[in-house]
Amino acid sequence: MIKSHAEGSQHNMRFDWSAVDTVLLDMDGTLLDLHFDNYFWRELVPHEYATARGLVVEEALQIVEAQYHRVYGTLDWYCVDYWTRALDLDIRRLKAGASHRVSYLPDAERFLDAIRALGKRLVVVTNAHQDALAIKLQRTDLSQRVDHIVSSHELNYPKEHDEFWLRLHARQPFDRQRTLLIEDSLPVLESARRFGLGHLVAIRRPDTSAPERVVDGFSAVDSVADLLAG
Ligand SMILES: [Mg+2]
Repeated sequence: MIKSHAEGSQHNMRFDWSAVDTVLLDMDGTLLDLHFDNYFWRELVPHEYATARGLVVEEALQIVEAQYHRVYGTLDWYCVDYWTRALDLDIRRLKAGASHRVSYLPDAERFLDAIRALGKRLVVVTNAHQDALAIKLQRTDLSQRVDHIVSSHELNYPKEHDEFWLRLHARQPFDRQRTLLIEDSLPVLESARRFGLGHLVAIRRPDTSAPERVVDGFSAVDSVADLLAG
């Protein structure tokens, strides 16, 4: 089922929870507000880069965005060590300093508790580097609300890559047909579709400071809570 933007404010999706045993959950932009990451990479890092090199912020923004673009969709794009070297900035220190901005998306906690109460296995699958993940787990109680958390850095492939799913499946066996992935990245949803996951749902509003997006090709909800009945 694909809902178009034009269908307006009725975003509740009647999801058949009896059809799934395992729920794979993306973290940033699905459970946690992507506003943190967008602020960090698009505002704070360009600002720090400009200060370190005596550039104006607009110039620094162009330089760092060109660097982001070069490794987009690869593990490096998500790697704290890579950016520490590539930008010569202390990314860990900057992340720690901004960590008070980490927060759940609206009703994500209520969603997790409700789905867990249905007896579903909840597994977070994230491209976040272990160090970035650690900061988010310090600032939230996410680790207590799910069964497992897997970082793609442990598997050496990002979620966009077909090999990620083979390795995840070997580590956390699940019935493909009875598994749901909830995710804000369309390239990741596409790789999960190639792997044959039975249920895929996209998030339309990963960043609460930005308007909702139009999602084509996948079932979509504004936020995870829209998957709960009523
Ligand atoms: Mg995401």
